[in-house]
Amino acid sequence: MWADVTVLSEKANVELVKRLKNFPSIVDPYACLQCGKCTSGCTVMVLMENFPHRVVDMVRLGLVPELLKSDVIWACTQCQKCRDACPQKVNPSEIFIVLRNLSIIEGGSVPDAYSNMLSKVLESGFIQDAIGVVGSDGLTYDRLKLSLPQLSGPKNVDVFQANCMDAFQRGV
Ligand code: SF4
Ligand code: SF4
Repeated sequence: MWADVTVLSEKANVELVKRLKNFPSIVDPYACLQCGKCTSGCTVMVLMENFPHRVVDMVRLGLVPELLKSDVIWACTQCQKCRDACPQKVNPSEIFIVLRNLSIIEGGSVPDAYSNMLSKVLESGFIQDAIGVVGSDGLTYDRLKLSLPQLSGPKNVDVFQANCMDAFQRGV
């Protein structure tokens, strides 16, 4: 059960939290035990101090407006480790998605890194150009040197872009 956030925090923005509750995929953050298993395995835990069990706690304390202003909601890589680790099926990764959506709804903007990555995907089908890897001998190896096939993007870029934009608009 969701508690009344107004009694939990003077800073609570009831309307925002109500919208958060209405997202279909979110799992009740009040089921969280604050065990920290999600944070212990989080891919980017070292980058942010509020990651991710503390974000779950902030949501249930009604501190959504503070989170919407914070870069922390954009640092999650959506690796889903927290979903698998959580004994309560709270799924912090979904909470990050909901917070990002709310941030945009509230007039926030997508960080440049995401916009750049999206442009790259629409251009080439990949989030970045293929890069070489440095071997134990200190030399850099590209795909050719590693006898890997060259990456090929979409056969028809126009159709690919149209399909991507359609998927974005439908939220799939
Ligand atoms: S999905 Fe996000 S919050 Fe969860 S473990 Fe991965 S990076 Fe961390
Ligand atoms: S693993 Fe689940 S129950 Fe434990 S702190 Fe994270 S969200 Fe809460």
